[in-house]
Amino acid sequence: MIRNVELFERACRTIPGGVNSPVRAFRSVGGTPPFIERANGAYVWDADQKQYIDYVGSWGPAILGHAHPEVVKAVQEAAVNGLSFGAPTEAEIELAELLVHRLPSIEQVRLVSSGTEATMSAIRLARGYTGRAKIIKFEGCYHGHADSLLVKAGSGLLTFGNPTSAGVPPEFTAHTLVLDYNDVAGVEAAFEKYGDEIACVIVEPVAGNMNLVQPVPGFLQALRDQCTRFGAVLIFDEVMTGFRVGPQGVQGRTGIVPDLTTLAKVIGGGMPIGAFGGRRDIMAHIAPLGGVYQAGTLSGNPVAVAAGLTTLRLIGQPGFYERLEAQTGKLVAGLRAAAASAGVAFSADHVGGMFGLYFRDAVPASLAEVSAGDTAAFNKFFHAALARGVNFAPSAFEAGFVSIAHDDDIIARTVAVAGEAFAELNP
Ligand SMILES: *Cc1c(COP(=O)(O)O)cnc(C)c1O
Repeated sequence: MIRNVELFERACRTIPGGVNSPVRAFRSVGGTPPFIERANGAYVWDADQKQYIDYVGSWGPAILGHAHPEVVKAVQEAAVNGLSFGAPTEAEIELAELLVHRLPSIEQVRLVSSGTEATMSAIRLARGYTGRAKIIKFEGCYHGHADSLLVKAGSGLLTFGNPTSAGVPPEFTAHTLVLDYNDVAGVEAAFEKYGDEIACVIVEPVAGNMNLVQPVPGFLQALRDQCTRFGAVLIFDEVMTGFRVGPQGVQGRTGIVPDLTTLAKVIGGGMPIGAFGGRRDIMAHIAPLGGVYQAGTLSGNPVAVAAGLTTLRLIGQPGFYERLEAQTGKLVAGLRAAAASAGVAFSADHVGGMFGLYFRDAVPASLAEVSAGDTAAFNKFFHAALARGVNFAPSAFEAGFVSIAHDDDIIARTVAVAGEAFAELNP
């Protein structure tokens, strides 16, 4: 850890907290984050040349494993032709056509440079399209860091939210209604009271930013029904789940059709990209066709588009998701068995290539239930695994990601390490 520690101290002098995105700083688990020098397949190597089996996968994009040779080649070939033009390219059409083809709910799509931009733009579009101001989001869902989304539930039932970040005036979140995930009655009550003022509901259709929380049966259908009944726009934020839980995201798994979808992470194959798209009549309200403004100097960047197109083509091969889901299932089953034999209160869940680990007896269905888990036990487990060369997400409130490069041997070695880590919890 010598060089990692030096780099972290050096980083802290010029970068706030030493990192460019807060979770990387290890604040919730404590200790010094490894500084990554390179990555390949299922592995990352840090500045002290230590190798880790990686379950962060750049927080989702690395679905093919790190530095897949065909993706790297596509990036190199695109770069030779110029890094950015600020003008349209044929490759952008190919990516748009591929997204429209793969996700039937998307008739038109616009590319941006991050998930935050995608959700922020989709919400502006929903407001412009409906002429309404209020939006519904759910506690524990993360949709990027736009001001109006950095909000937690107000004190009373059906009161509007309070900012969770300094620098966000309460007026900016005054139109954001925050409800409990999986609470159908709460959604119905909100529409009963404010139905014709609600522009949109935005939801992670499988939540991956409060650890992994699946929708209970009927929850997503209730959102669809209420939005249809009251003329609100249903936005599935599939920035994490899109092309991660299956070839058509959660919408493909459930058959529930949103009006707008936001994407990022996997669709950029590790390069900065995002997208929002959906019904043609709604998308027609975006500039230059309509009055809802949205723009980006690097939107549709040719190098990012090349990485995304190649990634989407490779994961479109037959059997890809069957194998990804099978490998994730083996990991989760192995971890459960290892915890049981160590006598640790533990549960785990997975959907496609993402998984959740919970230091409690039952799989949670809400942020409150996730929060009731034993965070101290998670933190101890995390460090025990990291020391033995397995890199799980550094927080009890994050999901984990498996790539197609995680073969049986890698998973068996992970389970063996986890067995030792669980044993440390229950000596
Ligand atoms: C990661 C994430 C975002 C934000 O994407 P960035 O590219 O980090 O801005 C938004 N929504 C969901 C569901 C995410 O997982």
